[in-house]
Amino acid sequence: MAKKALISGASVAGPMTAYWLARHGWDVTIVERADSLRLGGQAIDITDAARDIVRLMGLEEEIKSRHTGEKGLQFVDTDNVAIAKFPVEKKGAITREIEILRGELVDILVKATPETVTYRYGTTIRGLESLADAVHVTFDDGMKETFDVVLAADGMNSATRPMVIGKHDYERYLGCWSSYFTIPRQAHDNDWWRWYTSPTGVIAFLRPDNQGTMRASVNFLSADSNPEHMSTNDKRKRLRARLDGAGWESDRIAEALDRVDDIFLSPLHQIKSATWWRGRCALVGDAAHCPTPYTGMGTTLAIIGAYVLANELGTNDAPEEAFLAYERKFKAFATRSQKLPPGVPDVAYAQSRFKVKLINSGAKFAASSPVQAFASLFDSADKADPNNFDLPDYKVPAA
Ligand SMILES: Cc1cc2nc3c(=O)[nH]c(=O)nc-3n(C[C@H](O)[C@H](O)[C@H](O)COP(=O)(O)OP(=O)(O)OC[C@H]3O[C@@H](n4cnc5c(N)ncnc54)[C@H](O)[C@@H]3O)c2cc1C
Repeated sequence: MAKKALISGASVAGPMTAYWLARHGWDVTIVERADSLRLGGQAIDITDAARDIVRLMGLEEEIKSRHTGEKGLQFVDTDNVAIAKFPVEKKGAITREIEILRGELVDILVKATPETVTYRYGTTIRGLESLADAVHVTFDDGMKETFDVVLAADGMNSATRPMVIGKHDYERYLGCWSSYFTIPRQAHDNDWWRWYTSPTGVIAFLRPDNQGTMRASVNFLSADSNPEHMSTNDKRKRLRARLDGAGWESDRIAEALDRVDDIFLSPLHQIKSATWWRGRCALVGDAAHCPTPYTGMGTTLAIIGAYVLANELGTNDAPEEAFLAYERKFKAFATRSQKLPPGVPDVAYAQSRFKVKLINSGAKFAASSPVQAFASLFDSADKADPNNFDLPDYKVPAA
């Protein structure tokens, strides 16, 4: 009889794990808290071994073809004048070759999972009991079911994580919040990622997409680290309060919030846990090792971790052996990838006009020709990256 896995979370790590488990003949169910797939968010990039994995799945060309068309990053002042430009081809450009809207990637991954994978929306896990030979699960509607393994892929603020590994001190709050949502495009918008630093402690972005809309992000410093459940109205209120008096396009963004339903808003925590599993349950993706968007590695790590975890489960009889191998092969890379650039995030935020000037002058210097020429001496496309992950080669039955 096929082995049964329950996965919590249908974003990147969940469907990716399901795809590879299904290739090994597992019977997989995914529960997602939202009533449908959450397709919001900005462009994310896929680097390192994650690129090899999407190639193995036959998805690389489709992902590449969905590039958002972003031309690069511009630091702008309150009048939208570009102070510093980092075009895609320049050093320091954050826009990369594989740059796809998070929602489009999630859609592609969910469609790549075979029909044998069952998705249950509007459902969460209320309780877990991990025994020697099975895990007994109670869902939020009171239904009970038994699985061979349970995998938590429900993100940075995973509610399943404490049920799996207990409540330890594994959250490192970075002192700031981020939000992502989609707003209408206007005639003056361009195809650059515009980055605005406000003297009120807010950083706001507007990024183009390939769907005729703009992807907004509002980021701010806060001593409050609690990701308690917020209704969409609560999120709108919090964001409007932060945008008030911030300058630039803040009034436009605040007004657009009234018509946005899917808002991602959360304090940013890095997740650093000594272990990612207990008994027959394990963590995967941001739930295990969230690096935060400041590293640009969240999606790449979720893809690689899901691949390793699912293939270890597919090639080991005992889940415990698979979880040990998953940690042994992947944890060091995931931990290295959580390294934040020096001073980040504090150095990026300003709470005075003077600091805004300092930040913008720094960006202008970094974008200048001499600095770019110097940086290129140390960069070469084919240079081996010491951080690269050595992708294990698994024997996987044909799709
Ligand atoms: C709506 C949204 C927008 C995002 N936008 C960006 C972005 O613009 N830039 C960026 O760098 N990162 C963004 N992220 C985070 C990014 O997707 C992850 O860092 C990365 O891709 C790793 O994915 P993950 O699957 O591990 O976790 P996540 O992408 O966080 O997905 C977790 C999933 O679990 C679901 N979930 C949460 N709690 C439960 C529960 N109790 N039971 C069942 N399901 C649950 C969530 O609804 C979500 O679908 C966004 C995440 C979301 C959910």
